[in-house]
Amino acid sequence: MTSRTVVQIVPAQEVTEGAGVRVFRSIGTLPRRNLDPFLMLDQFNTDNPDDYIAGFPDHPHRGFNTFTYMLDGHMRHRDSMNNQGDLGPGGAQWMKAGSGVIHSEMPQQESGRMRGFQLWINLPADQKMTPPEYQDVRARSIPESAENGAAVRVIAGNFNHLQGPVSDPNTAFIFLDVTLENGKNFVQPLPEAHTAFVYTFEGATRIGEHLLNERQLAVLDKGERVTVTASKDHTRFLLVAGRAIGEPIVQYGPFVMNTRDEIEQALADFRDGKLVLTKATMVNY
Ligand code: MN
Repeated sequence: MTSRTVVQIVPAQEVTEGAGVRVFRSIGTLPRRNLDPFLMLDQFNTDNPDDYIAGFPDHPHRGFNTFTYMLDGHMRHRDSMNNQGDLGPGGAQWMKAGSGVIHSEMPQQESGRMRGFQLWINLPADQKMTPPEYQDVRARSIPESAENGAAVRVIAGNFNHLQGPVSDPNTAFIFLDVTLENGKNFVQPLPEAHTAFVYTFEGATRIGEHLLNERQLAVLDKGERVTVTASKDHTRFLLVAGRAIGEPIVQYGPFVMNTRDEIEQALADFRDGKLVLTKATMVNY
């Protein structure tokens, strides 16, 4: 079996989003505009309420999925159709924006730690204008395993015998949160052609000869498995993979389509109050 090698290391850059939320962005920056099927990865990681309290008031999305995974703190999701979700520590949320959603993502706390991730996953052309959907995943429904020095939370895809509650048939999405003891190896088979990355968010990891410090993302080559070694105490990382969609990506802010004309249409629809075509459905787990 061939282990995947690192083809690029992308350091996260601090950017301000929403109404003034400080996030660390890796995918979606100049050195790595996207990583098909992934469009953006933001990490929020702060103890300072000034960094997050303004939240993400009403804003639109069209043409892709947003996936949010929370480590600490609470975020309330509310959309223009009065669907509501409370995202808590260890929980996740999958939102298919499809033809259009206007929603807000607002912190429900005024103090304390706020940590988590938002990942954008593209939709294929034939699904960009389909009705939106939500999947709200409670922390307790995310399976965990602890063996050989690795504690693994399985949010999407399979790990050993465990199956994560989130699934995306378009990309066969895999999302693992791995805490690894210093010096231990974590070896995980992956579909050979899947796009895959590792994002280290605590401690440090090594993949082959490459060292990944906190807030660094490693884009992996194709291959049948990945081997990650922890090289510090308290090491924790995301292992994420998905099948590339292989279509043109034209992005303008919160709209991700295949052509410029479709972006123009999204902007016109938003301006004319026609972005939201269909009532979203919400599923609780
Ligand atoms: Mn949003």
